[in-house]
Amino acid sequence: MNPFFPIPPALQAADQAALEKAAPVFANIERIKEYNQLKMLHSFHQQGLASNHLSGTTGYGYDDVGRDKLEKIFATLTQSESAIFRHNFVSGTHTLAIALQGILRPGHVMLCATGQPYDTLHGVIGLNGARGTGNLADFGVQYRQLELAEGRLDLPAIKEQAKGARMLYLQRSCGYASRPTLTLGDIAAAAEAAKSVNPQIVVMVDNCYGEFTQTEEPTQHGADLMAGSLIKNPGGGIAPTGGYIAGKQHLVELCAQRLTAPGVGGEVGCTPGDILRQLYLGLYFAPGVTAEALKTATYAAALFEQLGYTATPGPLAARNDIITAIHLHSAEHLKRFCQAIQSMSPVDSHLTPEPWPMPGYDCDVIMAAGAFTLGSSIELSCDGPMRPPYIAFLQGSLNFATGRAAVLKGAQAVVQGT
Ligand SMILES: *Cc1c(COP(=O)(O)O)cnc(C)c1O
Repeated sequence: MNPFFPIPPALQAADQAALEKAAPVFANIERIKEYNQLKMLHSFHQQGLASNHLSGTTGYGYDDVGRDKLEKIFATLTQSESAIFRHNFVSGTHTLAIALQGILRPGHVMLCATGQPYDTLHGVIGLNGARGTGNLADFGVQYRQLELAEGRLDLPAIKEQAKGARMLYLQRSCGYASRPTLTLGDIAAAAEAAKSVNPQIVVMVDNCYGEFTQTEEPTQHGADLMAGSLIKNPGGGIAPTGGYIAGKQHLVELCAQRLTAPGVGGEVGCTPGDILRQLYLGLYFAPGVTAEALKTATYAAALFEQLGYTATPGPLAARNDIITAIHLHSAEHLKRFCQAIQSMSPVDSHLTPEPWPMPGYDCDVIMAAGAFTLGSSIELSCDGPMRPPYIAFLQGSLNFATGRAAVLKGAQAVVQGT
C-alpha cells in the first residue's frame, strides 16, 4: 500500500501469508509490551522521577541524584535489590567482565552451564589460552563448563558440580550458537538445582538481548545477578553507550567496587552532558522498541519459512531474545541478504558490506549495520559467518514497518537475485 518501498509482486502472497501466520504472535508481543510499558511508568512513579534528575554532573559525580534515581528505577522495574545502570560501561562484554571480576576471587570456581559462552567472553575468562592479560585465569579463578544436553540444561550435572562452585553462570540468549534461548523457567530450574546443594552459590545471568522480551526478568526467577548492554534492548535505541548490573545488594556493591575502585564503589562517577536524559528516555522506550524488534524477528521467520527456508526460532515460537537465524544455504545468498538489509538502513544505506576477516572467527564475516548508534543491535542489523550452512543472524529494528520492508528487500535479493 505504500508508494515508497512497494512490495515486489512476487512476494505479495508470501508477505500476506507471513503476516497472517504471525498475527497471534504479534498479539502476544503487544500484550507483553503493554504490561512492560505500564510497569515502567509505575516504576518511574514509585521512585518519583523529577525534571532535575535529568541533568548531568561533572567531576567526581558525588550527589549525582539523577544517576542514583535511574538505578533505583531499574532496580524497582526488575525487582532487584540494587542496580548499576550507567554510561561508564563501554560494552556488554565490559559489563559482564566487571560482574565476574567483582564476584570471583582466586581459587573460586565459575561453573558455566550453557556450553561455550559468547565469543568475547573467552578473553575475559581466559578460554582463548591467553595469559598475562589480567583475565580470570591469571587471577587463579577456575572455569568449568557443562554442555547442554540436546539444547537443554543438564540439571543433574549442575547439582553435581554446583557444590564446589562460587558462581553458576548462565547465558540466556543463544547468541550465535544453534540452541534454544533459555526461558525464565529454565533459569529458575537451574538456580534451584544449584542452590539445593549450595545455598551460597551466586547465580549470574548474561541477560544480553533478553530484556523486556517477557513480562519478568531473570532476577525474578532465581538469578542473584544479571547484566546486559545499553546498546541492546534496555537502551531503547537511544542510549549512546553503557551497561547494567542488577541483583542482590551485596553482590551489586562488589561489582561497583570493581567498576570504580575498591573502597570507592558506586557513589562516584559523573554523568556529563545530556547522557542521563538519553538513558532515561531510552529505558522508557525500551519495552516498545523491544516489541518492534520481536515483531520483525517473528515476521522474518514467517516470511522465510513461506519461501522454503528454515529460520530459528520459528515464527510461532515464544521468543526470549531478539535474534533470528535464517539458514540461507549459499555464500551468495548470505551476501546478497546482508547487502539488501544494509541498503534499507536509515544510516549508511549507500554502503555495500563485503565479507571480511574478523578477530575471533575462523572465517570471513559479513555485517549489515546502518545504525544511529555504532554497533547497536537493537537497531536493525545482520551478520553472518561465511561458512556452511550460511546463516544470517538478524536482530533489531526500531520499528516494525521499516523492519518488514528491509526483510522483504532481503528476501527479494535472495529469491530473485536482484
Ligand atoms: C552482545 C552480547 C554480549 C557482549 O556484548 P558486546 O556489547 O558485544 O560486548 C555478550 N553476551 C551476549 C549473549 C550478547 O548478545
